[in-house]
Amino acid sequence: MSQVNVIPFHKGSMDMKDLLGGKGANLGEMTRSGLPVPPGFTITTRACLEYYKAEENLTSQQKQEIATALTALEKETGKQLGSSDQPLLVSVRSGAVFSMPGMMDTVLNLGLNDQTVLGLARLTDNERFAYDCYRRFIQMFSDVVLGIPHYRFERIIDERKGQTQTSSDTELTAPDWQWVIDRFKKVVREETGEVFPQDPMEQLYRAVIAVFDSWNNQRARIYRKIHKIPDDLGTAVNVQAMVFGNLGENSGTGVAFTRSPSTGEKTLYGEYLINAQGEDVVAGIRTPEPISSLKNEMPEVFEQFQRIARKLEDHYQDMQDIEFTVERGKLYLLQTRSGKRTAHAAVKIAVDLVQEGVIDRKTALKRVDPEQLDQILHRRIDPDAHLNVIAKGLPASPGAASGQIVFDADKAERWSQEGKKVILVRPETTPEDIHGIISSQGVLTSRGGMTSHAAVVARGMGKPCICGCEEIAIDLKKKTIQVNEVVLQEGEELSIDGGTGEVIKGIVPLIDPELSDEFQKLLRWADEYRRLSIRTNADNPADAAKALQFGAEGVGLCRTEHMFMETERIPLVRSMILAETQEQREEALQRLLPLQKEDFKGIFEAMKGLPVTIRLLDPPLHEFLPNMEELLIDLTRMQMTPDTDPQALQEKETLLKKVRTLHEFNPMLGHRGCRLGLIHPEIYAMQVEAIFLAAAEVLEAGGTVEPEIMVPLVGHVNELKELRKRIEEVAKQVKSKTKYQIPYTVGTMIELPRAALTADEIAAEADFFSFGTNDLTQTTFGYSRDDAEGKFLHHYVDQKILPDNPFITLDTAGVGKLVSMGVNLGRQTKPALKTGICGEHGGEKESIFFCHQSGLDYVSCSPFRVPLARLAAAQAALGKSVEED
Ligand code: ADP
Ligand code: MG
Ligand code: MG
Repeated sequence: MSQVNVIPFHKGSMDMKDLLGGKGANLGEMTRSGLPVPPGFTITTRACLEYYKAEENLTSQQKQEIATALTALEKETGKQLGSSDQPLLVSVRSGAVFSMPGMMDTVLNLGLNDQTVLGLARLTDNERFAYDCYRRFIQMFSDVVLGIPHYRFERIIDERKGQTQTSSDTELTAPDWQWVIDRFKKVVREETGEVFPQDPMEQLYRAVIAVFDSWNNQRARIYRKIHKIPDDLGTAVNVQAMVFGNLGENSGTGVAFTRSPSTGEKTLYGEYLINAQGEDVVAGIRTPEPISSLKNEMPEVFEQFQRIARKLEDHYQDMQDIEFTVERGKLYLLQTRSGKRTAHAAVKIAVDLVQEGVIDRKTALKRVDPEQLDQILHRRIDPDAHLNVIAKGLPASPGAASGQIVFDADKAERWSQEGKKVILVRPETTPEDIHGIISSQGVLTSRGGMTSHAAVVARGMGKPCICGCEEIAIDLKKKTIQVNEVVLQEGEELSIDGGTGEVIKGIVPLIDPELSDEFQKLLRWADEYRRLSIRTNADNPADAAKALQFGAEGVGLCRTEHMFMETERIPLVRSMILAETQEQREEALQRLLPLQKEDFKGIFEAMKGLPVTIRLLDPPLHEFLPNMEELLIDLTRMQMTPDTDPQALQEKETLLKKVRTLHEFNPMLGHRGCRLGLIHPEIYAMQVEAIFLAAAEVLEAGGTVEPEIMVPLVGHVNELKELRKRIEEVAKQVKSKTKYQIPYTVGTMIELPRAALTADEIAAEADFFSFGTNDLTQTTFGYSRDDAEGKFLHHYVDQKILPDNPFITLDTAGVGKLVSMGVNLGRQTKPALKTGICGEHGGEKESIFFCHQSGLDYVSCSPFRVPLARLAAAQAALGKSVEED
């Protein structure tokens, strides 16, 4: 007979997890290592998938195998399902391959009916206990199998407690429970039109089916979506002899972790309840006791449990989450799995286990999920604080911040210069608000999504941000925000938690991100194994210094447009753009030059001689000018005011005309990047001169530099060829002026499909390629990111038309193919070509794995993601992602 449907615990083991699910595999493993586990068998995930195909019923083969396994279980326990003398009771428990705690269903005390309950009372000499089990069974079976909501039954229990003037379940007596059971049965009859099923085999088959079905309930689906667990795995079902924690004061049930899942500290961490069954601990009916008090109440059991917990941890070589039950002083184990934990705990436990000699470094590196590290690297709210939450928005950038409410960017900047902490609150933000974002502790917007400007910028800066918080009404005139009846004025204190999206009234206590000793150690181990270099995206010395502290080995992308956006420079940048003559433009640029030089010098110094890739100006010029609609409104207003200064009016009109000429139908594909550099050579010439002058000053002061000049948006080799020639000319000029030979390289972004396709030609002119995978994704898919994410992309992902959002997880099949092709073609021409990736993908785990496999030299990401990237790069080199329990 085939063994695919049902497998007894004593034949199961850890490596059969795909077939038995996590719970079943571990029950098997524990049974085989001689631990006290109540016997039982597992109905496999394969049986579950077959059941889905077999149109809602168990196959006769499956029923037969279940019956055979049950007979063996009866022999082993000396009891029989449905017998009144020696009734066997079982639990029917869900258990998927990846643990989904509490998401699916379980039925306890199955096998009870009007006859067997009498046998159970006789056998245990405890009538109260037997009726307590029966009512629990009716309640759970009705909920899970018959779909009758729980509260229908809880009400009846409350009614009885009222009648008898008792407050806790344990005070109800056998006659009370009998009364309750009668009423329960009536509810079942009303709701289903049938009597409560009395045949134990029918009970069993129906429970198995219901547990199979619970794989598809709403909360399980949502859980799988969040944790990227495939929908088509199905669940196993475990049928297990019951043990009873509700047999009196010498019985109980509990859950414990072998180490703290919150801090990782090596102490037993858990709770238990005396005289209770498993689900009572989590249901909150009574407040459980901390596990440490079990030491006084049941010293021997506690000793034994502690010993077993340690043994299980040694066996699995990881922190375990263990369920246990004590029946009349005897300890039973009901489940073990590797425990879910915070990032702090994950890091500490992994490093501690290495130091205890339990696991090696490689294993430790695989144990921590890089994505989870986000939690550690941002300021967060003290978990013990009481919070007054007034609204909830999209958790756009993790971390927490408190400050005074400010409604515009200028004021944010002013207030912060005065030493105040501010939270910038806007309907939405635009690039012109950048100085306000920089000056604030965090950003809250009422419009816009997870990739809105505010969100992207805030994440890039590691600043907390909540977007699209539509519940709050922002009144920019009155300078108030309102949520229901709460009204807050400018200057009042507000806090945001960008990890949860919670908007909180008042100041909350924050704790700093800390690179604990363990964390530093783990990252140093990661450095030993990874092949990829890790660089950072940084536009200013502070970010660069932060990234260096987090272990960055260079700057992979220094965007120069943010420098142009700074408040005191915007007028200069504008006069450069608006210049009527070549001289006017040159003059504006000459005034920008020393400022740019200082920018670059600051970054070179912060990076202490490590390579710095500087991208020449990329966005279209109109981004630095005021918005056309707003200008039109201003102008109209001025025209309608009788005593407007004619000169001011004239200036406005000129500005509007210029904005109109620069207006583009599709700026993303318009006059930007190297196209701008070729048409307005003086802009790049100024930037390149600033780079070389800054480098010369650093050399002069005895430092070292490694500038890498990056030309954006090249699509044809001739673009780069021409610009490279001009860069070399500037280098010569600077050399003759400063006498310093600056070591530098010239390379390009590969962010257009044509660039990837002709990478062999482009490589002839480039010392390095940096894949700009954000633009490459836009141009490969033909999506404009903001439009796609705002309109159809979520739908695409929900409908599984696309597996993931390609702007978050690199599309390896399409965009990735272009990357690999670019690397390979480029190296054909120039074997020493340096290759990297910059942009958000450079800080994303799966994309980093891909970069490793494609043979890139480095990834570059925002400073706060550098530690994550170090770890992910090590995992890529070790050839396996995080271990799942
Ligand atoms: P979950 O996956 O939601 O934890 P479980 O299948 O582990 O669901 O069961 C729910 C509760 O019932 C747990 O507390 C468990 O320990 C308890 N339980 C399960 N099977 C038995 C059994 N055979 N005897 C006693 N308690 C059990
Ligand atoms: Mg459990
Ligand atoms: Mg780009």
